[in-house]
Amino acid sequence: MKELIMVKYGEIALKGINKKAFEDMLQSNIKRRLKKKGQFGYERMQSTIYIEPLDEDSDVDEAVKALKKVFGIGAIQKCAVFPKDIEIVKAHLGEYLADALDGAKSFKIEAKRADKTFPLTSPEIQQQLGDAVLDAFPNISVDVHKPDVTVRLEIRDNGAYLSAKRITGAGGMPVGSSGKALLMLSGGIDSPAAGYMMAKRGLVVDCIHYISPPYTSERALTKVQKLCEEMTEYCGDIMFYCVPFTEIQEAIRDHCPEEYFTVIMRRLMVKIANRFCKKDGYGAIITGESLAQVASQTLQALGCTNAAAEYPVFRPLIGMDKIEITDIARKIGTFETSILPYEDCCTVFSPKHPRTKPRLRDVLEAEAAWDFDSMIEKAVAETTVTRYKYGEETVFLE
Ligand code: ATP
Ligand code: MG
Repeated sequence: MKELIMVKYGEIALKGINKKAFEDMLQSNIKRRLKKKGQFGYERMQSTIYIEPLDEDSDVDEAVKALKKVFGIGAIQKCAVFPKDIEIVKAHLGEYLADALDGAKSFKIEAKRADKTFPLTSPEIQQQLGDAVLDAFPNISVDVHKPDVTVRLEIRDNGAYLSAKRITGAGGMPVGSSGKALLMLSGGIDSPAAGYMMAKRGLVVDCIHYISPPYTSERALTKVQKLCEEMTEYCGDIMFYCVPFTEIQEAIRDHCPEEYFTVIMRRLMVKIANRFCKKDGYGAIITGESLAQVASQTLQALGCTNAAAEYPVFRPLIGMDKIEITDIARKIGTFETSILPYEDCCTVFSPKHPRTKPRLRDVLEAEAAWDFDSMIEKAVAETTVTRYKYGEETVFLE
């Protein structure tokens, strides 16, 4: 019995004349994710992509696992392919449906006949298969309105496709269909979750991280690199910009009032991000900020940070509690890495009493005390860029 996978679109199904472009992008994202899982053939019909393993070594279950993390997919369904002979389908149906019908009280059959030369009509197929299911599973009954399980049989040119289990997909839009943005990635819990949420809306998410050695350690950097690698599971390949930030932070410490340290630091981070947006074509900056979480995330502080941005700043977590954010981090598999106890450059020289309601006028005045522009130039020039590829493990220092 041959098995294949049906991938049903999520929101893409609602698109109009440009639907094909979204479909193409979804299919090429899927192909990239499945490259290491074996050889697969692809066919597209009626808001569905059919993915067929081309040899014995191509693992359908492994493929399904990877597909669950591909944005743009509404549902994933495995199905068995039979010759177009109702007797053969009936003979094997008990064996194939055992898993899906385990514990179910009711079912219904849905038959579709794309191949009109098939001798039975759809209602006739439904009748015959319904009887076969009742024979094979005596404790189950038919419920056409609210069945526990819907068994589907599609008669197509190449064969008869039988399926039952439907797995909910990751939803959202295909990564890349909305353009690309730069995520300010720290080592914390929040920013990876923010990146996940924006990738879900179709953005390519690349990451920028600021380090302050020797105040921040090699291990702290390794942790962020690991987060980047973990994020590729949902985001696909990620470019990682690593910005040397020590001199800027020392200059803030030496030349600005302590109560403004954090907000000025965040503004300078944003100014550096602006530069890469312009240089490499990012349309927005993403942060993991959540309103009122800490002093630098009050309405006034966010206003001051925003004023430094030359691009839209997306803050998908702005209205979320820490518990909700943590749930996302756990779901996407970044939580355990995020809670490793290494310092972030934000905690270096962090003021005892930060201004919770900074006024932009005062912040700009404090910032004018030093020529930060030339320091930004230097930091940009010294930034290193690495590419993290989906499915490739990076070797990290212990
Ligand atoms: P996170 O859990 O993401 O670290 P946080 O609650 O610790 O967030 P802050 O430290 O105030 O919050 O940082 C707010 C946001 O600023 C982060 O979500 C991230 O987008 C950005 N950020 C902070 N530190 C860095 C850094 N070293 N490199 C890049 N971005 C950073
Ligand atoms: Mg942080």
